[in-house]
Amino acid sequence: MKRTRSKLFFERAKDVIPGGVNSPVRACKAVNSYPVFFERGEGAYLIDADGNRYIDYVCSWGPLILGHAHPNVIAEVYFASKRGTSFGAPTWLEVEMAEIIRECIPSMEKVRLVNSGTEATMSALRLARAYTGRKKIIKFDGCYHGHADSLLVKAGSGLATFGIPASPGVPEELTAHTLSLPFNDEEAVKEAFEKHGSEIACVILEPVPANMGVVLPKEGFLSFLREITQRYGALLIFDEVITGFRLGLGGAQEKFGIKPDLTCLGKIIGGGLPVGAYGGRAEIMNLVAPEGPVYQAGTLSGNPIAVSAGLATIKELKKPGAYERLEALSKMLEEGLKEILKDLSLPYQVVRCASMLTLFFHDKPVTNFSEAQACDTNKFARFWQGMLERGVYLPPSQFEAWFVSLAHTEREIEETLRAVRETLREIR
Ligand SMILES: *Cc1c(COP(=O)(O)O)cnc(C)c1O
Repeated sequence: MKRTRSKLFFERAKDVIPGGVNSPVRACKAVNSYPVFFERGEGAYLIDADGNRYIDYVCSWGPLILGHAHPNVIAEVYFASKRGTSFGAPTWLEVEMAEIIRECIPSMEKVRLVNSGTEATMSALRLARAYTGRKKIIKFDGCYHGHADSLLVKAGSGLATFGIPASPGVPEELTAHTLSLPFNDEEAVKEAFEKHGSEIACVILEPVPANMGVVLPKEGFLSFLREITQRYGALLIFDEVITGFRLGLGGAQEKFGIKPDLTCLGKIIGGGLPVGAYGGRAEIMNLVAPEGPVYQAGTLSGNPIAVSAGLATIKELKKPGAYERLEALSKMLEEGLKEILKDLSLPYQVVRCASMLTLFFHDKPVTNFSEAQACDTNKFARFWQGMLERGVYLPPSQFEAWFVSLAHTEREIEETLRAVRETLREIR
């Protein structure tokens, strides 16, 4: 496959944009490659600047659960934009969105819309600290919560990809209040609470981490966190920016039956446009300005075009059978991968939760960040390149999730599995 224009565009981009990209993992450095510049998306497919077609498993890193350019989403975006792009005043759409979120995720009694997942988690932390009057937060190694200062400690996603433990430019005084612990490690959490219990404002986590690759919470881990936070008067924050509306309409909290105090959303609720949200118990949310003193604002928050895209997406997901269909396709992909690994006697691990999945190039189960980091990332890089050549676009990092969308069909999954078999044979 020729990618002449992508290469050319990247050369120009590097001259004017740091690293040539507006978000680090896009640069494809971790897979020893250059970024593919895309021109169009059609359902499960991406078409690059040179006209090559790829089956897409990045799906814009999660938002596109309906695939690219879903007709109803595009229509709503079109109608909304005809009515004006932004008013800086409330619209009915925002109320509709907040009501739908609460109906699907009842722990979010009150909801505030923002523009990104980063804004959602940053605001939720501020609120948790204000509500408890405490400074310290607990997060988990390899969980990614956006790029707010105090969350850039042993984080996942791009930081995992590039092995960045913490970012320069963040004062130590800020990260000193962040305790980062191994995921799935109850003992570590107990110890932290025994030592700092009265200072801990909250525990924030991805209930099913997807930013170190997909990792499953051990049986009982989430209910343990619910119990210990309650005992010490700290808040439990579920960062469901990926899992919200991905694992089902009610997200991870519905799937595992845990009620967090605050929840962060993003990605799917914007349908491919910039939207985030945070919400939770009314008693806590009432502290947010102008009802309360905790300041948080946004010129474009609740933007009518973005909210329209999100509403159209959720409407499709509410149709009967949507999640069953996603489950069937994802299961087909998982089982196909496992069969290929078995046939080729390769020890790699496939971890799946609903329609997100990671193939870890590791011979032991992956249950936390340090185990994920032991993966053979060079092998992954060769795998990624082999898949790209065969017309399958995977996330360009070992530490990310593949996303299946409702635009994928059995045909795309079969074609993908064929490409996997060939590629693994080639690189073994
Ligand atoms: C993507 C992501 C974020 C950050 O969202 P942005 O919209 O990129 O700012 C936060 N938390 C999780 C779990 C994410 O996957």
